[in-house]
Amino acid sequence: MARPTQAVINLQHLKDNYQLAKQHSQQAYAVIKANAYGHGALPAAQALTEADGFAVACMDEALQLRHQGIKKPIVVLEGAFDKDEWLSAVEHDIEMVLHHQSQLNILISDPCFAQLQLWFKIDTGMNRLGFRLDEANTLLDMCRNAGLRIKVLMSHFACSDDLEKAKTETQFQALDTILQQQKLFWPELILSSNNSAAIIAWPKVRDHISRPGIMLYGSSPLIDSNPCQSILKPVMTLTSKIMASHIVNAGESIGYGDSWIAEQSTRIGIVAIGYGDGYPRSAPSGTPVWCNGKRLHTVGRVSMDMLCIDLNDNDDIDVGAEVELWGEHINANEIASLCNTISYELFCQLTQRVKRIYSA
Ligand SMILES: *Cc1c(COP(=O)(O)O)cnc(C)c1O
Repeated sequence: MARPTQAVINLQHLKDNYQLAKQHSQQAYAVIKANAYGHGALPAAQALTEADGFAVACMDEALQLRHQGIKKPIVVLEGAFDKDEWLSAVEHDIEMVLHHQSQLNILISDPCFAQLQLWFKIDTGMNRLGFRLDEANTLLDMCRNAGLRIKVLMSHFACSDDLEKAKTETQFQALDTILQQQKLFWPELILSSNNSAAIIAWPKVRDHISRPGIMLYGSSPLIDSNPCQSILKPVMTLTSKIMASHIVNAGESIGYGDSWIAEQSTRIGIVAIGYGDGYPRSAPSGTPVWCNGKRLHTVGRVSMDMLCIDLNDNDDIDVGAEVELWGEHINANEIASLCNTISYELFCQLTQRVKRIYSA
């Protein structure tokens, strides 16, 4: 049998999570950038037959989907890096975010760009991408005079995962103010602002096209453990198997750096997964795994291809037993917080070596 390290991707759960996101806005573009957060962009796009559209980070990701036969609207969140990319957006009918003057200069240089459906990005406080609020109206006038088609006014929230901060509503109001001012000239103009956290946690903040990402994959974006986790269905279940077992005596250590020393005689299981698969090396001793209906715990450092778990008091578990690292039973957010990161990063870090198995 081949090395049993795999990520089972439950596509029905992906679809269910999408339906949940979609309840809160007229349209929802499913964010499938970074290979659908490690889940596989093509299978995700193929499964999400009801999606209004998709959002990816860059043109390469968009073109790959087009070449693989995905016909739905796609928006590129970073827009284009040069004129060739703008031209290929025209050719492949891809919606584009316009966020910087350097892009606008290219767009007004060639009448063919009048065909593009543009998302005009305004910086309302994230201070990353987007035109300044106080320049938005002038630049939108310039776009209109140049014959460009702005379909969406968009912005991105900096703190929508934090319910204590009023900034999300302030950002939304700033965006909505520009919409009200521009509506006279662009009656069809609509808003897009909501990421997963805003969709879930900010019922008063409602846009026309939301952009759910992490929630589609069944992981809560909120910083505190929030009841919403229970309505999201985990999509990825990462598993491997125990490939060896043995007993160490009290005082003996496990793995690199002797970081864990047995206090008593301990039976150890070696699991075929490590940071070469994307399981975080920063996971400390005591990180939970799921095996035979129980929570067990890692011991020692995670190495490239293996990690070790404590099997004391579990005589029924031995070589061949399946171990879940996260998914149905172990919340990826729990592992992420032990590693000082977020589930987004765990999912994206999963390497090519992990076989993705798709279940409908
Ligand atoms: C990645 C991204 C999203 C999705 O965010 P989630 O927190 O995963 O829902 C939405 N909008 C933009 C601009 C993004 O870059």
